[in-house]
Amino acid sequence: MTVNLDSENLGFAYRKLPYRYISHYKDGKWDAGALTEEATLHLSEASPALHYGQQGFEGLKAYRTKSGALQLFRPRMNAERLQRTALRLMMAEVPTDKFVDAVKQVVKANEGYVPPFGTGGTLYLRPLLIGVGDVIGVHAAPEYIFTVFAMPVGNYFKGGLTPTNFVVSYDYDRAAPHGTGAAKVGGNYAASLIPGELAHSRNFSDVIYLDPTTHTKIEEVGSANFFGITKDNEFVTPLSPSILPSITKYSLLWLAEHRLGMKALEGDVKISELERFAEAGACGTAAVISPIAGIQTKDEYHVFYSETEVGPVTKRLYDELTGIQFGDIEAPDGWIEKVE
Ligand SMILES: *Cc1c(COP(=O)(O)O)cnc(C)c1O
Repeated sequence: MTVNLDSENLGFAYRKLPYRYISHYKDGKWDAGALTEEATLHLSEASPALHYGQQGFEGLKAYRTKSGALQLFRPRMNAERLQRTALRLMMAEVPTDKFVDAVKQVVKANEGYVPPFGTGGTLYLRPLLIGVGDVIGVHAAPEYIFTVFAMPVGNYFKGGLTPTNFVVSYDYDRAAPHGTGAAKVGGNYAASLIPGELAHSRNFSDVIYLDPTTHTKIEEVGSANFFGITKDNEFVTPLSPSILPSITKYSLLWLAEHRLGMKALEGDVKISELERFAEAGACGTAAVISPIAGIQTKDEYHVFYSETEVGPVTKRLYDELTGIQFGDIEAPDGWIEKVE
């Protein structure tokens, strides 16, 4: 099947593809699940997902290699993270094999929509877990829907490897100190809509959130984790229980240490000490690595490497990560899963 994708100009937008996967949990167990052409969900008006935010999601990509093969990047980590999200929100867990099998089915069924190698485009997959059923009281749902849909995507932030600027949010937090910041749930995103809009209206790419207790340390970007390269060539990324544990971030920590020979660590990143860093970036599945040109704090606009060019270490990390994801560079054990 060949589909005209305009692969060079894909942004990050929903597109209704022919197939998605759906499975239902009822009476304590999951059904087998199946592909469907039906893109509309049917659920009770009293579903806890709608009223109390009992839901969680994931995001991962399928990559087309030079030979045309299709592959996934660490999908079991996404399955395990969705299980931790499920635990935090008292939802039924989706077993790892069921999750990975569902993702592969969706990739295969929509194979013609995976952008060609060399365009930078990928097939973005969105697994979603929601609590459903006739419950208006504040309780965990008796039933769940697990669905995986997909769409071809290009760059998440305009410009890809072109640095963009970010603004610190002082008036709004995305998560509470012991809330659901580490769970991939819609509620955190609902909290981020106002600061996100304010940032966009001032021409910033996105928001940098601070730790909700003291507002002195960087936590993360709205939909991606933060990292900096210190002037001593160390890879540093914040450590906090209210950050969403990014699989991309953990992959970069490993690659910085084992492939680039850098010291790589998680630790405090004080907003008052940005001059420690020669380069900075935002990382996540959707964002990949997005270089940060500068950060607007309360009283200054701090520029890192350059407002127009990606820094050399960020570029090497980007090349290593995407080289592995697209199959050009040998992957560490277990990082790549073929879709056959
Ligand atoms: C999904 C997500 C990320 C990125 O995680 P990856 O596993 O690297 O895709 C970062 N921050 C937030 C808030 C997220 O929801």
